[in-house]
Amino acid sequence: MARKATVLIDKELCKGCELCVIACPLEGLVLSDDLNLKGYRIVRLDTDKCTGCVNCALVCPDSAISVFREPKAAKPEAT
Ligand code: SF4
Ligand code: SF4
Repeated sequence: MARKATVLIDKELCKGCELCVIACPLEGLVLSDDLNLKGYRIVRLDTDKCTGCVNCALVCPDSAISVFREPKAAKPEAT
């Protein structure tokens, strides 16, 4: 299944609390070894199967995650 959404993580807002990691049903978010300017480890997306469920964005206490769903393909018109 192709990725259905793009997930953007504002690394300077992330504090590595991992709530989004727990919330993702695909276990698609992981804590990386990268640090932001405040010294927090930040999460990154580690799946190409994101469904765009938005769970991660909803639980993030710092609004660090934005989810952009891919538009659905148009259905062929009935003739
Ligand atoms: S819930 Fe938000 S602050 Fe916490 S690790 Fe995920 S992106 Fe970072
Ligand atoms: S939108 Fe859903 S499937 Fe995609 S990374 Fe966030 S919690 Fe996981």
